[in-house]
Amino acid sequence: MMSDLSAREIKFLPGVGPKRAELLNQELNIFTFEDLLYYFPYKYVDRSRFYTIREIHPDLPYIQVRGYFLKFEGAGDPRHRRLVGYFHDGTGTIETVWFQGIKWLQKALKPDHEYIIFGKPSLFNNKLNIVHPEVEDIRTFEANLASGLQPFYSTTEKLKNSFLTSRAIQKLQSVLIQIVEKEITETLPDYLIRRLSLLPLDEALRNIHFPESPSLLKKARYRLKFEELFYIQLNLLKLKVVRNRKIHGFTFTRVGEYFNTFYKKNLRFELTEAQKRVMREIRKDLGSGRQMNRLLQGDVGSGKTLVALMSMLLAIDNGFQSCIMAPTEILATQHFHTLLLFLEGMEVNVRLLTGSTPKSERKEIHKGLHDGTIQMLVGTHALIEETVQFRHLGLVIIDEQHRFGVAQRARLWQKNPEPPHVLVMTATPIPRTLAMTLYGDLEVSVIDQLPPGRQPVKTIHYYDNRRLRMHGFLREQLAQGRQIFIVYPLISGSEKMDYKDLEDGYESITRAFPPPKYSVSVVHGRMKSGEKEKSMKYFIRGKTHIMVATTVIEVGVDIPNATVMVIESAERFGLSQLHQLRGRVGRGANQSYCILMTGLNLSEDAKKRIETILRTNDGFEIAEADLRLRGPGDLEGTQQSGIPFTLKIASLGQDGQILQYARDVAESIITDDPLLEKPQNHILNRQLRKSPPGIINWSVIS
Ligand code: ADP
Ligand code: MG
Repeated sequence: MMSDLSAREIKFLPGVGPKRAELLNQELNIFTFEDLLYYFPYKYVDRSRFYTIREIHPDLPYIQVRGYFLKFEGAGDPRHRRLVGYFHDGTGTIETVWFQGIKWLQKALKPDHEYIIFGKPSLFNNKLNIVHPEVEDIRTFEANLASGLQPFYSTTEKLKNSFLTSRAIQKLQSVLIQIVEKEITETLPDYLIRRLSLLPLDEALRNIHFPESPSLLKKARYRLKFEELFYIQLNLLKLKVVRNRKIHGFTFTRVGEYFNTFYKKNLRFELTEAQKRVMREIRKDLGSGRQMNRLLQGDVGSGKTLVALMSMLLAIDNGFQSCIMAPTEILATQHFHTLLLFLEGMEVNVRLLTGSTPKSERKEIHKGLHDGTIQMLVGTHALIEETVQFRHLGLVIIDEQHRFGVAQRARLWQKNPEPPHVLVMTATPIPRTLAMTLYGDLEVSVIDQLPPGRQPVKTIHYYDNRRLRMHGFLREQLAQGRQIFIVYPLISGSEKMDYKDLEDGYESITRAFPPPKYSVSVVHGRMKSGEKEKSMKYFIRGKTHIMVATTVIEVGVDIPNATVMVIESAERFGLSQLHQLRGRVGRGANQSYCILMTGLNLSEDAKKRIETILRTNDGFEIAEADLRLRGPGDLEGTQQSGIPFTLKIASLGQDGQILQYARDVAESIITDDPLLEKPQNHILNRQLRKSPPGIINWSVIS
């Protein structure tokens, strides 16, 4: 059984011992035989292909050449010694250079003996060379490699210093496989393996480390990726089943006075079709007798706040309190004012609770929540403090959810003996694969339509040398009474990087737009929250014309009169961030603009980002592109959200198809056997209980 392997400490593997074991623990999180077995190569290099020296050019990746060393020369001053070897294969000679291990190499390497050198060619002083190539005796090479595919394992500086190189790890894997191969037991049911034609686990693990052929490697990777994604999906789906059976949600059956009054009297515009559809979905959940767990996705400006408000009114109509939690004080305050405005003339007791609510007021709010007189609460993290107790909380809305940690959400869940309905709202469109994995147990609603009359934001790219032209454009907009955001990646200058910063920017902006004709507000992360609020307020009320800021204004703020978003050093920002920033404008009826300022030299990635953002306004398309360019680990939010999200082999960016397939298979199994009680599914339950690394313990979250 695999559990055996997870009980066997890595220090007992021949060739490891206590010292190396400690390094493996610390550097790679490898504690057991199983951990090592599941430490997969990150790439394979085809070592069946040999290059001749004549063919080599500096753009090639890792390559190998077979040949002979003609001679060795020491070079450099005593403190920076290097060894140069002249390697020759009949078509030419190439220099190989070492800076370390010189003495040993000089002894070990013999001229006139056939070797294989392996490394990355580069150009130095206009001459081709290979720095620190791997050198192998032709005979050892041939004995070791069946298929010619050499696995590469990532290591760290610390590991390399103790000679735990990729090669050394490969060696450990080979020892391990020999010892444990007979003990590996299957982790998927027989019927699945047969039906899906998967490689058995032992074969897959052997081939992932030591591919017998490229096609077996492909099969091994497929099997392991499938399994990884399958168990995540199965876990989520089973959780949903268990939750629906165990938990009874509050039933909101009434559509009463609050909702109706608002809809008939206060709502001054038509809901979009998308908003109507989402409201129907939410109402169905709320009336179902089950707890709602719904994710509401909608691009910036699509009108999620209104949906939130109407859901909260339904809660009041059914005798329940509700709350909405925002990630920042600015946003919570803005939500609060939006709600007040929407609810004008209605008697709803709404309160705002944030970190800067004075103590006396806080006490009063606590009391009102406890005795039920406060019907709606808007706030930040302050909402989830122990001291906040509701009388009967029926609905929790979390805005811009990716800023909240999992643990924080869980605490909010637990505010009632019966869990409240939960609506999670996000404006960062999540690529489907990521959503399926992060929120696979939530129902999903999408607002895929903007309110009418909105013109899409026009996006323009200027190189820094067009700054005066940009200023001219800003003047025109200001003359029409519009307001402008200018966003900088940094607060103050950085010596290392040539990016624009806010301090310099503020100076040059006030020079170009001098008082008293123009006035400029500033908001950045180093300001006290009171100052930030004040500065924001001036701008919101139209008292200042230009807002100079860092990305603290990225999320949520709604200022319809602001029509220009200038993003300085736009090459410095990620795609999702650029899209969020652009979403700050285009919220009113006037044509809005997003101006991307960049330096002249852009990296390939930066070029792709700028091209994408110029090409499309579609948040979902942008999120997909972001996922492809950056990989899910870097995606904004997933890291901050505190989700222990590590996949060992599958990639959400690349394995969307396998993921969908894994989801379908998991769904069909759960439909047939909701609690996985049938004998053929025992193995599935066992694996779920084991929660192998990489699978998240979702029960903590929901
Ligand atoms: P989101 O939170 O999804 O980014 P908001 O809820 O802040 O979007 O809505 C953006 C703006 O659009 C707000 O000023 C809001 O009052 C307005 N709005 C929302 N729904 C509609 C609608 N159906 N018709 C017209 N304007 C709307
Ligand atoms: Mg919003």
